[in-house]
Amino acid sequence: MITRMSSLFVRTLREDPADAEVASHRWLVRAGYIRRAAPGIYTWLPLGLAVLHKVEQIVREEMDAIGAQEVSFPALLPREPYEATNRWTEYGELVFRLKDRRGADMLLGPTHEEMFTLLVKDLYNSYKDLPVSLYQIQTKYRDEARPRAGLLRGREFIMKDSYSFDVDDAGLEASYQKHREAYVKIFDRLGFDYVIVKADAGAMGGSASEEFLAIADSGEDTFVRSPGGYAANVEAVSITPAEAQPIEGQPAAHVEDTPDTPTIESLVALSNEKYRREDRAWTGADTLKNVVFMLENPDGSTEALAIGLPGDREVDPKRLEAAVSPAEPRPFTDEDFAANPALVKGYIGPVTMDAPEGAVQVLGAEATSTVRYLVDPRVAEGTRWITGSNIHGRHVYDLVMGRDFTADGTIDVAEIREGDPAPDGSGPMTLARGIEMGHIFQLGRKYAEALGLKVLDQNGKLVTVTMGSYGVGVSRAVAAVAEGTSDEKGLCWPRELAPFDVMVLATGKGEQVLEAAEKLADDLDARGVKVLLDDRKASPGVKFADAELLGVPTSVVVGRGLAEGTVEVKDRRSGQARPVALAEAVAEVLAEIGR
Ligand code: ATP
Ligand code: MG
Repeated sequence: MITRMSSLFVRTLREDPADAEVASHRWLVRAGYIRRAAPGIYTWLPLGLAVLHKVEQIVREEMDAIGAQEVSFPALLPREPYEATNRWTEYGELVFRLKDRRGADMLLGPTHEEMFTLLVKDLYNSYKDLPVSLYQIQTKYRDEARPRAGLLRGREFIMKDSYSFDVDDAGLEASYQKHREAYVKIFDRLGFDYVIVKADAGAMGGSASEEFLAIADSGEDTFVRSPGGYAANVEAVSITPAEAQPIEGQPAAHVEDTPDTPTIESLVALSNEKYRREDRAWTGADTLKNVVFMLENPDGSTEALAIGLPGDREVDPKRLEAAVSPAEPRPFTDEDFAANPALVKGYIGPVTMDAPEGAVQVLGAEATSTVRYLVDPRVAEGTRWITGSNIHGRHVYDLVMGRDFTADGTIDVAEIREGDPAPDGSGPMTLARGIEMGHIFQLGRKYAEALGLKVLDQNGKLVTVTMGSYGVGVSRAVAAVAEGTSDEKGLCWPRELAPFDVMVLATGKGEQVLEAAEKLADDLDARGVKVLLDDRKASPGVKFADAELLGVPTSVVVGRGLAEGTVEVKDRRSGQARPVALAEAVAEVLAEIGR
């Protein structure tokens, strides 16, 4: 069946939508693929749906190929299973919650570990039933704090989620590897430039976990790579802790006046002028900056946390979020400082040297402030610092970790910088941005334990099943492909995802043009080619612009050349057009689209 522009349900727009921050959002709306229904919630129009279905089909084929079986769960779910795993609480404001008419709590599923676990528990009870992998391609709901960039971060979105069930660890490893290979095929077929990186397991729990990131400047994730092959999301980088230094022979700590030193640079400059170090100049990396956060737990309780790190580095908000999840960190407010008078804003330090009773540890759950104190792994035993003295206008020098102060533990949340050494010794790291397209986890027994999924093993003994969980952002993939392939004229689909194989444009006046275009479209259709025919009474300029906006990879222009018996075959990506004899047009198009 030929699709005609004159009747296709589409309106192309000449203006960018006001809220469009990224190319994919702009072009998908302007080309009439999607419409916004509410913030982070989109309606799929015929063109968009055609692309979505193609992405779904690729995902489905590759999941089927590893023997995973498709099911479909409801999106509207009861509270109880999520209560049993504590995610009803842990997910906090991310979950859309509602009540039925009897007052029972329900939610719109943000992800389905619980439901799959219960389904397998419901039907299976022996090791002979395993392994099994189940998947669905389904709508998910998350009340994201910052829905943005159109389909890239929606509040309603489509995910392929699968779950593997195995009787032992070796089985889980095998299921995980199978999924990993399927994902490589999926993302190759989608045409992404992507990387596979070590991931933070986050709120899911579990251990081994990797992400598939589409490389894109507009991505929200930052990842690192080294020449020796280390690749990780910055959230998952664990730096190599600094080596302990001998405490013996280090100078004694002393407090000094440091007026007008609001920044680390000014403090370093003053220190090098007035309080010089015997062996070399002080640098920002010799200062110990103590930053305080309030952690808000999902149950509403809060806890203050002080983080000590070298002053030349900032706390990376994403690394911090990942480290303290499911609690959410926020910076200290003036009220928080008022409630914690032991913390002197701008001069926070682990120790007060000249308290009446001598030096007193201030930071720490057991110390005078009772504020938990965690330090960067660079703050090792025996390292020596300039840091706050808890007195306005004064800093303490030569404060030695393990001699003058202690911490409650370490926290690895300082920013990772270009050139930092990879933790596995594989060379300096470079940073780039990406869009998380897929995520694979070895969940282990967390969900099976919480929900009581056990089977009888070979010896008739009950054992807890071990699980994997694997996600692909299907609707996000539509946007991510658009993001990576669009240009200044509009969308530009790879063949495997394009809503049509070819667009036939009837340009110029006269019945003959339209007749020839109709005939060509019919002939192509008869050969199984999916054709969009622009049969509108519009100017050639409008048709050319719309064809570029819509992004069908090949078009055939029927118009001016017809008198000489030729049409033009045009490639969307290169913009190049070449004349072809009308009689050869079908064969040329078939060759062009690789049939
Ligand atoms: P993110 O870190 O981007 O919030 P996530 O780690 O919470 O994602 P998962 O729970 O791992 O996401 O979900 C599996 C996949 O679903 C992700 O890899 C991503 O492709 C997709 N996805 C997650 N959240 C969204 C969203 N809000 N909109 C569109 N796709 C999403
Ligand atoms: Mg993820």
